[in-house]
Amino acid sequence: MNRKEFLTKTGIVMGGVLTLRELDAWISEHPGQRMPSLFVSHGSPMNALADNPYTRDLKATGQRLPAPKALLVVSAHWLTRGTFVATHPQPETIHDFGGFPKPLFDIQYPAPGAQDLARALAADSGGLVKEDPSWGLDHGAWTVLLHMFPEAKIPVFQLSIDYYKPLSYHLELAALLKKWREKGVMMLSSGNVTHNLGVFDRNESAPVADWAREFDELIKNAVEQGNLNALAKPEQWGNITKLAHPSYDHYIPLLYASGLEQPGDQLQYIHQGFQHGTLSMRSYMFSKA
Ligand code: ZN
Repeated sequence: MNRKEFLTKTGIVMGGVLTLRELDAWISEHPGQRMPSLFVSHGSPMNALADNPYTRDLKATGQRLPAPKALLVVSAHWLTRGTFVATHPQPETIHDFGGFPKPLFDIQYPAPGAQDLARALAADSGGLVKEDPSWGLDHGAWTVLLHMFPEAKIPVFQLSIDYYKPLSYHLELAALLKKWREKGVMMLSSGNVTHNLGVFDRNESAPVADWAREFDELIKNAVEQGNLNALAKPEQWGNITKLAHPSYDHYIPLLYASGLEQPGDQLQYIHQGFQHGTLSMRSYMFSKA
């Protein structure tokens, strides 16, 4: 057992932990500042090891973002019954996939958690959000974060997706979470604008399927118009939605990103493009103009 594992298992926390007092200090030092709400399409876990136009755009964005006090991640890969917030002080890097090369399993993203903040968020939610002491960082979080924030110094905690709720629930919950953007918390929602692994092409630069382009355009328009009603009813688009999202796990995070939009925010694209023929890697953020 190394030192970090020992400290984690014994509940002794290393330095760099965010306390609520530090958060209060940040708020008084940054009056009126609002952290962005990001949506990032994460695609294949192999992007963690890649140097491609998508990962270069993530890196460039990370370098120009304001430094948050903490990062709250909503990932397609933490699906639960009920909504949970992760309170572990040193979240484990979860390698929640199989059949990939060893170097991917060797990656660690050793950012601290944000236990006090996670507990405060749960306490503030009127019973909607419960604490989970064990969840770490799944690959929807760390494969993105290691490009955007490679130093892994910013405290990170995850919010789960209640997979048993209607889509409108996620917009309502996002609206409740808006205020944390004014408290130094950057929001990162990680999914995919299109996600159908049944038609995944192994070639990263395979020609793009028409339906993927079409669905990507529908989402682009709805996001640009701030049309939450349209985003909450993707079934209105018929068969194309079934092709783009046979299930909604990778769709739901984009509801959080748009649900966290606030008046005065500007939409900026982080990346636009496709991988593997059908995966739209469209990524964007809302930030105060
Ligand atoms: Zn995924």
